[in-house]
Amino acid sequence: KPKAIVIGAGIAGIASAIRLSIKGYDVDVFEAGSKAGGKLGEIKMNGFRFDAGPSLFTMPQYVDELFKLAGKNPEDYFKYTKLKEICRYFYEDGLRLNTTSDLDQFAKEIEEKTHSTAAEVYRYLKKSKTIYEVTHHVFLERSLHKLRSYLHWDTLKSIFRFGQIDAFRTQASANQSFFKDRRITQLFNRYATYNGSDPYQAPATLNVIPHFEYHFGAFIPKNGMYGIVEALLKLAEELGIRFNYNQKVEEILYNNESKPKINGVKVNNRSYKADVVVSNLDIWFTYKNLLTGIAEPKKLLTQERSSSALIFYWGMDGSYSNLGLHNIFFAEDYEKEFNAIWKDKTISSDPTIYINITSKHLRNDAPADSENWFVMINVPANSGQNWDQLIKEARANMIKKISRMLNRNIEKDIICEQVLDPRSIESKTGSYQGSLYGNSSNSQFSAFLRHANFSSKVKNLYFCGGSVHPGGGIPLALLSAKIIDDDISPVVY
Ligand code: FAD
Repeated sequence: KPKAIVIGAGIAGIASAIRLSIKGYDVDVFEAGSKAGGKLGEIKMNGFRFDAGPSLFTMPQYVDELFKLAGKNPEDYFKYTKLKEICRYFYEDGLRLNTTSDLDQFAKEIEEKTHSTAAEVYRYLKKSKTIYEVTHHVFLERSLHKLRSYLHWDTLKSIFRFGQIDAFRTQASANQSFFKDRRITQLFNRYATYNGSDPYQAPATLNVIPHFEYHFGAFIPKNGMYGIVEALLKLAEELGIRFNYNQKVEEILYNNESKPKINGVKVNNRSYKADVVVSNLDIWFTYKNLLTGIAEPKKLLTQERSSSALIFYWGMDGSYSNLGLHNIFFAEDYEKEFNAIWKDKTISSDPTIYINITSKHLRNDAPADSENWFVMINVPANSGQNWDQLIKEARANMIKKISRMLNRNIEKDIICEQVLDPRSIESKTGSYQGSLYGNSSNSQFSAFLRHANFSSKVKNLYFCGGSVHPGGGIPLALLSAKIIDDDISPVVY
């Protein structure tokens, strides 16, 4: 059997390994850490379970597809439910809004409680759908770097409709034109943060993101987000894929002929041969640490990084009936918050706070009469800030804000705590500067400034994961594995 090696067991690495195994390759995965999942990790503390990274699950069909490809019934491995209530929004002026999968209910609530109308919501979501229709074949599901991608009829049709993707104004200015009420503009501006970008700089094309949530839906896996990893690992192991943990790849090996071809990888000074190698690492580290002798794509590696996060995992004594699974406590001045992150590279004194509480749905995630709070704010990527000081100030500001908006002293309920910040995100998951989604999407051309899923220098070397095409987040990371799969021919015996 020809051999494939995958470097890194992040979600895209696991998906690539499964796809290569189904193609007929004998697959080994080398993972630097002691567990699979990468950013999609989990934390256990004092009887509480937390999903460490991603908390919002969209496009579950991309996970199901892997079981179907292997000839299995997805439900035998992986169960999830569609959320009726998606998110609770809290504003400083007392406004409370719930977004729901029932769009009529959601639009009606906006009409009843704000100066915006249901018609504005429908018009906005229609635009979001149009952007999805025009972009998904071209920007998401195929390589942008292969001529044959442009020879599909649906790609050509999309190219003729490019004027409709709203690339020439910022998301914030587009949203202002959709909604009379600035609080609804703020609600939809937040979607830029789903790929670590700034709505005041990023193109309005990012208004495609709400389509994923409102059209396809938001979901919760029955075993939490880490359940995605566990289900895929079960399938991978049944397929005979070998996972080698605590095995950090030191070098990607290739022969030095005029057209270099992949040879394998070096781990702990030992060489492992392979016909195909897929790197799931942040592309920055793949070039800087593993690919000696290969010229770096300088422009791409010096692009602005996406934002990072500061997360407090709090075991909370008591229950909070006014909170749901996903909760947002908005900053009073959103633009000021983004200026702090992107211009001043610091944390605003009034950051928007996201609280995810899986124990609202998954009772075993917290002991009785308590809740597992994942409390996150967006922060700049690490460029050497005084994080200890910033974290101390942010923690105090966050506790004050949540307590004020819930009218309850939350600090006394915190039983146990762990913290993740840009430095630990980089050291634990190998993400350069701790950014969550590779490069930022603040420029109109960002889609073209992500690395291709294959190497143009070394034959049979591929790249997957959130730092390369088509981008960050679980759905796009899974699509990167699919694009690689489309490029590799099945093994013929
Ligand atoms: P990664 O998770 O980046 O994993 C890479 C793996 O490579 C790691 O396991 C690492 O240990 C390993 N590795 C590194 N160096 C080596 C080496 N030399 N040798 C071997 N192995 C190595 N996405 C969503 O869809 N929804 C969300 O709600 C969401 N929220 C997020 C919140 C946070 C706090 C974070 C951190 C991320 C969030 N994301 C979210 C983004 C999402 O987690 C990522 O886009 C996705 O998980 C990236 O997967 P990946 O395949 O790129 O691999």
